[in-house]
Amino acid sequence: MDALRIAEAVNAGALDPAEVVAEHRARIEAQDRRIHAFLTLNPAAEEEARAVARRVAAGERPPLAGVPFAVKDNLVTRGVRTTAGSRVLENFVPPYTATAVDRLRAAGAVLLGKTNLDEFAMGSSTEHSAFGPTRNPWDLKRVPGGSSGGSAAAVAAGMVPLALGSDTGGSIRQPAAYTGVLGFKPTYGRVSRYGLIAYASSLDVVGPFARSVGDLAAAMEAIAGRDPKDATSLEAAPAFTEALDRPVQGLRVAWVRETLGPGTDPGVREALERFAGVLEDLGLTVGEVGLPELEYALAAYYLVATSEASSNLARYDGTLYGARAPGEELVAAMKATRARYFGAEVKRRIFMGTFALSSGYYQAYYGRALRARAAIARAFERAFADYDLLLTPTAPTPAFRLGEKLADPLSMYLTDVNTVAANLAGLPALSLPAGFSRGLPVGVQLLGPPLADERLLAVARAYERAAGGVFRRPPPPPQG
Ligand code: GLN
Repeated sequence: MDALRIAEAVNAGALDPAEVVAEHRARIEAQDRRIHAFLTLNPAAEEEARAVARRVAAGERPPLAGVPFAVKDNLVTRGVRTTAGSRVLENFVPPYTATAVDRLRAAGAVLLGKTNLDEFAMGSSTEHSAFGPTRNPWDLKRVPGGSSGGSAAAVAAGMVPLALGSDTGGSIRQPAAYTGVLGFKPTYGRVSRYGLIAYASSLDVVGPFARSVGDLAAAMEAIAGRDPKDATSLEAAPAFTEALDRPVQGLRVAWVRETLGPGTDPGVREALERFAGVLEDLGLTVGEVGLPELEYALAAYYLVATSEASSNLARYDGTLYGARAPGEELVAAMKATRARYFGAEVKRRIFMGTFALSSGYYQAYYGRALRARAAIARAFERAFADYDLLLTPTAPTPAFRLGEKLADPLSMYLTDVNTVAANLAGLPALSLPAGFSRGLPVGVQLLGPPLADERLLAVARAYERAAGGVFRRPPPPPQG
């Protein structure tokens, strides 16, 4: 059942939240040994469900009453272990809870557990988790994408109807595309980052995964809005669910030429063309736009993201949080802690970022990356003067095989080529399932100007109606 249907039944007194939790737990038990979407289950889920039942019995009608949800394990949860996929936080039990999680609970949702991710959200496959990879429910030999692969796989496999992820360069959208679910990266600042373990603070955004547009909007409505604990959070959020049924006829869409290069899988291209055809049938106009500045997006992203990460990750030195390696004196102990508890990809990023920021190289790398970032934002601004929405494949290909890109970091980074620009410019972006290529899900990405989050949802909703739903259930994993 989708989130909104669960909430409706719970609010009508037809469904007991504890029962809903039990059912979803059973699904996790049946499937997660093979998929490995979860790192930690919330031992208090039943108790939380009973509390929601009491709220409903007292006359409250919470919009997400009894909806089980999962949370990427880089959002801190008080009393529930939060690892960020890293050995350095393997036994970290946070003393506070991320705002987005608090707000879902306030809306009546029940935290079922914490999901797997690439260590500190650095990766595109979930293979960089210190606790082993997550597998794609559509094909267990393939990755679910990353870095929010656990949340995406949990929603795709029906283990939860709703999950939170974080998106620094595509970590919600790319795994959504690879697993055939919806993933939304809101405008930068729409959702509080309080309690999100920082990767690259000027790019990081929290957002939802779901199997229907209505659920996605309901989740956004719950989590968005100003938070005094995050100075970059934006004022009042729109009524996302109300905006869903806005008319979309006459909206001008353009696909972005540069994102359909020779590296694009033919099945992905066909899905995008079919999708554009449906938009035309719905009365939108579909044109084409060139954004040559996007050529620099990936390079700019990996400089900005690693530079910020090298600063953000300085706090894991064994003195305040998590693991600490023994050492004779302070600096030696810090070095030993980092050497022992950070994974190879995280170290690579810290090296890259530290190098890009080092005096003598700062202007040549970080400074130029910032200029490219500004040029990309201006290019989008120009495009949005003529078009209401832009359209790209979420990723150039469907999900790749486990291990396929591990030895070649650059080829892994290339899977983000269509997603990173939205983060550099702070734009809202949505990945929507739009068919299959050789049996694997394909996602299309809609991009809008800053604060046009609701427009993306309204167009996604119109498409979903026309397509008779966008989510298709993956085949059950083989038994035994
Ligand atoms: N795959 C990209 C990276 O490794 C994006 C990650 C993310 O969005 N958190 O940086």
